[in-house]
Amino acid sequence: MNPSTVTATVVTPSPTSVEEVRTIIDGAAASADRWAATTAQDRGQILEQVADALDSYSDYLIAIAAQETHLTELRLRGELKRTTFQLRLFAGVLSEGSYLDVRIDHADPDWPMGAPRPDLRRILHPLGPVVVFAASNFPFAFSVAGGDTASALAAGCPVVLKAHSGHPRLSAATGRIVNQALHTAGAPEGLFTVIFGTESGKVALNDPRIKAGSFTGSIPGGRALFDIANSRPEPIPFFGELGSVNPTFVTRAAAQARGVQIAGDFVASFTMSAGQFCTKPGILFVPEDSIIPEVLGSTSLPAPAALLNNRIQQGYLDVLSELRAHRDVSILAQGADSLADPPSPTILKTSISALLADPHSLFRECFGPTALVVTYDDEGALLDVARGLDGQLTATVHGEGHEPLLPELVRLLAQKAGRLLWNQWPTGVSVTYAQQHGGPYPATTNSGSTSVGTAAITRFLRPVAYQNFPVALLPSALTDENPVRIPRRVDGHLVTHP
Ligand code: NAP
Repeated sequence: MNPSTVTATVVTPSPTSVEEVRTIIDGAAASADRWAATTAQDRGQILEQVADALDSYSDYLIAIAAQETHLTELRLRGELKRTTFQLRLFAGVLSEGSYLDVRIDHADPDWPMGAPRPDLRRILHPLGPVVVFAASNFPFAFSVAGGDTASALAAGCPVVLKAHSGHPRLSAATGRIVNQALHTAGAPEGLFTVIFGTESGKVALNDPRIKAGSFTGSIPGGRALFDIANSRPEPIPFFGELGSVNPTFVTRAAAQARGVQIAGDFVASFTMSAGQFCTKPGILFVPEDSIIPEVLGSTSLPAPAALLNNRIQQGYLDVLSELRAHRDVSILAQGADSLADPPSPTILKTSISALLADPHSLFRECFGPTALVVTYDDEGALLDVARGLDGQLTATVHGEGHEPLLPELVRLLAQKAGRLLWNQWPTGVSVTYAQQHGGPYPATTNSGSTSVGTAAITRFLRPVAYQNFPVALLPSALTDENPVRIPRRVDGHLVTHP
């Protein structure tokens, strides 16, 4: 691809009109059958071509992203690499084929249920056009060509991408590169389009031809869109990744063994990218009499950094001001000026009894470079906290392994969070086969799914069982010959090499 064709100055796009949104969805709907009928291998190759195109424009894209988001070049380069890796990883999943979860039960007159078993063959089919709401805090990995787009396209679904207002020019530029790559690769026209403006997202989500929504952002925004998706005449699945505090529990034994190290690693984790990660460890539970509060109290915090955009910064300052004004909260450490523009990082402190008495005010996401240290005397109170937790993306335990409360603490946390961590930190969400980035509400609107990792593809698929069908009418992956040579469960047994 020739960079000069897309590197013309990118102007800030104007909002997409209602009529334009409808026309774009006409195109998405028209492309749906053709894209769904594309072989998984062909879709994978097309995703790889999109990844190659994005890589070839990395300098251009990163320059725009740096202007619009205030994120460092180092961070943006790493994020773009993650984004193109993600597209290629999905391509590999498509060629391997087990994502289709094919199950074949041959007819069995002696089926012990008490009645003969019919011939049943089950496979996952794409849902249809999806509207994806891009995130502000990952301008590449959770934005235009990010994980939701990759998983929806991989699943066989067209994408209408609602750009985030925090990086409109980057969204337009990324969209043009993705579209050129799709066009060159022979993907159907209308498969992927970027739209702009808050209203346009709502119009798209309300359109009857849209069959699912996905989102990363705030609890109020995600909830409003989830409600729209559910109140349509035909409700549709809405996969929202909303907010999380990501509590981190340090046992007395761990604090004694590694207190200084834990304190240092905590500061590095909660201040990474100015605290603008959904997995930031927002609350750290430590023994009152351990060295950790003292170390944190004298730590030197990173320099102030501009937050992603004015809306994020104002939201952060509002929550921080309320936390600071709480009668049971003190400031353990802060830089030059916590409430300035840009704000310097802050560590706040309270007690576990204060937190349990007023969780609504104290146990909340403060999206930016602030964390709350909660001290405890009685380790058993950690179980009370775990019992009362709202849904979380992550929960972390720093322990030594022999503490009597650990089995119960881990059991409780598994009920509340999508990912549990042992002696590591929740920031830095690896894109893998086993990754789980989700959790009970309000961490997400659908606790059975993930928005990171290859399992994300199943969000945009729907199972269909074919009963008693002739071979000629079955999808090829369901025929006994298995010409696509994918792993399948046949009569209850996993068959990996047909
Ligand atoms: P946001 O305000 O929820 O916006 C996310 C997306 O949803 C944007 O495209 C936005 O449109 C749209 N939107 C929001 N409310 C809407 C509504 N009522 N109707 C229609 N569309 C709506 O999130 P944000 O701007 O990224 O960040 C705000 C706060 O969200 C942060 O301060 C932080 O607390 C939280 N956050 C959480 C995560 C996470 O991963 N958990 C990530 C980022 C932010 P416009 O852009 O057009 O306004």
